[in-house]
Amino acid sequence: MPDFCSAIGCSNERSKKTKEKGITFHLFPKDVFRRQEWITAVRRSGFTPHKAAQLCSCHFRKEDFDRTGQTVRLREGVIPSIFSWPGPLCKVGRKIPAPSLNLTSQKLEPPRTRSRSTVRQQVNALNLSKQSKTRKTLRLLCTKTSDEVKLAEEASKKYGFPAPTIFAKVIDKSLPADIIYEDEKCLAFRDISPQAPVHFLVIPRIPIPRISEAQDDDAELLGHLLVVAKKVARQESLKEGYRMVINDGKHGAQSVYHLHIHVLGGRQMSWPPG
Ligand code: AMP
Repeated sequence: MPDFCSAIGCSNERSKKTKEKGITFHLFPKDVFRRQEWITAVRRSGFTPHKAAQLCSCHFRKEDFDRTGQTVRLREGVIPSIFSWPGPLCKVGRKIPAPSLNLTSQKLEPPRTRSRSTVRQQVNALNLSKQSKTRKTLRLLCTKTSDEVKLAEEASKKYGFPAPTIFAKVIDKSLPADIIYEDEKCLAFRDISPQAPVHFLVIPRIPIPRISEAQDDDAELLGHLLVVAKKVARQESLKEGYRMVINDGKHGAQSVYHLHIHVLGGRQMSWPPG
């Protein structure tokens, strides 16, 4: 199977030509949380990278590479950050970098154009990734504090067994984040890829996957999240106003399936959103 770059709009394929141009190809990380960071970064709706999915070097910064050895390696923990998305995928205020090398034809394949074996491979990959996510959830349950275990159990009863997302690591503090508020029900932290001078997220500790899966008895928690969002906005001196956004599912361009409120401010917003 030819090695294509998985980024939307990138037509780079591993070949002699791209090699001559110095373009290298890098597999998605195996670690489930680092993999999720890459998935979030590429913003391909409903995208589950298969085992051999790769990104080409055009989507990383110069300083992301270790070129000291014979092979060009990515430094530990880097996240791809250079993309040229088509208009509808660009969030409000996102600065689009100048297109780098061959970013011409879009490669957002609708499922019907894929071959049957590709679809089978993707289904297998999806099943494997689901199994490993469930195993990971169980492992997390075993290593967490009793409060977190309780929350995870509660979540699994209410919302099925939600796969842990990158935000689970922010909550258990195993992934550094700029946390600006926390209490027993939720926390707020700065978005890793801010779309405005102030951009933070408010998330519940209990992993509700998305707003459309919230239930009637979540009303109090949802209200609490809004009140916290408002308080933190004041703490951030957003005196001229701000925007709160909840993305839901595919059409809502949700990329992390742990409910979160975006709070964006510090500049004039426009309407309608993209
Ligand atoms: P959404 O597209 O609504 O699901 O938003 C998910 C948001 O989470 C995006 O704006 C990402 O930039 C942000 N994000 C993803 N990983 C992290 C992280 N580790 N720390 C802070 N923000 C993150």
